[in-house]
Amino acid sequence: MKKEPGPHYFFGTEEPVSRISRALQHFKIALFFDFDGTLVPLQNDPAHCMPSEETKALLQSLADSPLCFLMILSGRSLPDLQERIGLSGIYYGGNHGLDIAGPDVRYTHPDAVLLKRAIHRVGRKLESDIAGIRGAWIENKEFTLALHYRNVGEKDIPLVQATFEKAADTLSGKGAMTVIKGKKVLELAPGIRWNKGAAALWMLKQWGDLCLPIAVGDDQTDETVFHALGGMGLCIRIGKSKTTHAQYYLKGSRETLRLMREVKRHVEKARSPSFPLP
Ligand SMILES: [Mg+2]
Repeated sequence: MKKEPGPHYFFGTEEPVSRISRALQHFKIALFFDFDGTLVPLQNDPAHCMPSEETKALLQSLADSPLCFLMILSGRSLPDLQERIGLSGIYYGGNHGLDIAGPDVRYTHPDAVLLKRAIHRVGRKLESDIAGIRGAWIENKEFTLALHYRNVGEKDIPLVQATFEKAADTLSGKGAMTVIKGKKVLELAPGIRWNKGAAALWMLKQWGDLCLPIAVGDDQTDETVFHALGGMGLCIRIGKSKTTHAQYYLKGSRETLRLMREVKRHVEKARSPSFPLP
């Protein structure tokens, strides 16, 4: 099939939204949202990223709809993600989908459990290696670890990257680990064939119903979801990117709210009877 040039601005034409309303005649909607940079704006300190009350209310009403499934897939640890959002009826995929929890679902990838101790060892070594670099810090997320350098001065960034690569090499060289490069963050994760995309497909299988998947994300790890879903759904990247697998883009994370409102409107319309009941 010929690849359509894109991505296209999601709100640029009626097409994507009308696909949602057409799908709702026969299918449910499966929503996959990334967290940082998608549901909340990026911050210098990721500890400050909290969803607004409006975002939470929209997430809750979508999750409560019998026509929707909703999963939030993030690189954050599962407890961190659950605490920040704090809503029930939602499926959470922490650690890039290695650790999943939701109504009647609890799953941790078995290889992630096996490799946990090795990750901790590298984490401890990195802690001491970067101790002298201002602004760099290690986040231990149980099954993955992240080296954050958003607040590191330009001149120290190559040193941070080299230090991380050296430490990661001790494990990733053996294929047990893989390095994930994000926005001002380097992560060490189990080197297994599992990512946000695999987690999204796994979740769709668990839900079992025929669904139109809608995936929204802003970073490289979200590309695995767009790639896994292929032409099956609506894939939307936050910010315009030339190399994305997504067919659509939104201008910024604030437009995620607009998208959620739009989905909510169509879900509610699909639920209301189209003719007066006797
Ligand atoms: Mg993100």
